[in-house]
Amino acid sequence: MRLIIATKNNHKLREIRKILKGISLPTVSLAALDKKFRIVENGKTFLENSLKKSIPVSRAYPQDYVLGEDSGLEVDFLRGAPGIYSKRYSGRNSTTEKNNTKLLRALKDVGVKKRGAHFICCLSLARNGKLIEVFQGKLRGRISTKAIGANGFGYDPVLYLPRYKKTVAQLPLSLKNRISHRAKAFKKLKTHLKNCRL
Ligand code: IMP
Repeated sequence: MRLIIATKNNHKLREIRKILKGISLPTVSLAALDKKFRIVENGKTFLENSLKKSIPVSRAYPQDYVLGEDSGLEVDFLRGAPGIYSKRYSGRNSTTEKNNTKLLRALKDVGVKKRGAHFICCLSLARNGKLIEVFQGKLRGRISTKAIGANGFGYDPVLYLPRYKKTVAQLPLSLKNRISHRAKAFKKLKTHLKNCRL
């Protein structure tokens, strides 16, 4: 019995493996099992997209536990955008740089008090085609006025955390992995796995 991590995003996978260190179940990524497994991420919410990963994979590997993960950035001033479209915010040929530039432009004349935003992570744990439990975590901050920092990925250079006086991309990865939306959701998952004696 294994815990299959149903994501093909290598940045996330790297973080997830660090966060999950120490759990008793052996973990394996979907990419390592089947590079061609087709996931159609066309849900309308983070939860739906997370389930689009965990449920079909758990049907294909019924003996194992499967974890679906979906995450992104929600900006208050943009009424939750880019949200589930975080990866493709700047269109078909989106890149991290284009996404961050578009976001900073969209908030160009917006004052500091209205720049609130958070990362959100939605995890779903499934087995044999059935949902077992959902876990969520958020990391609240505000959108900076320019991209700063080289660590992490995605929108990390533009989410400023007043508590640390730094953007997420300026934090060491070890710290991000303790305080992030993903870390918070996985902490809940770990407690669940422990309570189930897995
Ligand atoms: P997907 O879940 O792989 O479709 O991607 C979600 C997108 O949300 C990523 O491509 C990033 O743009 C953004 N995102 C999710 N988690 C993080 C994070 O920890 N830091 C920065 N951006 C993130």
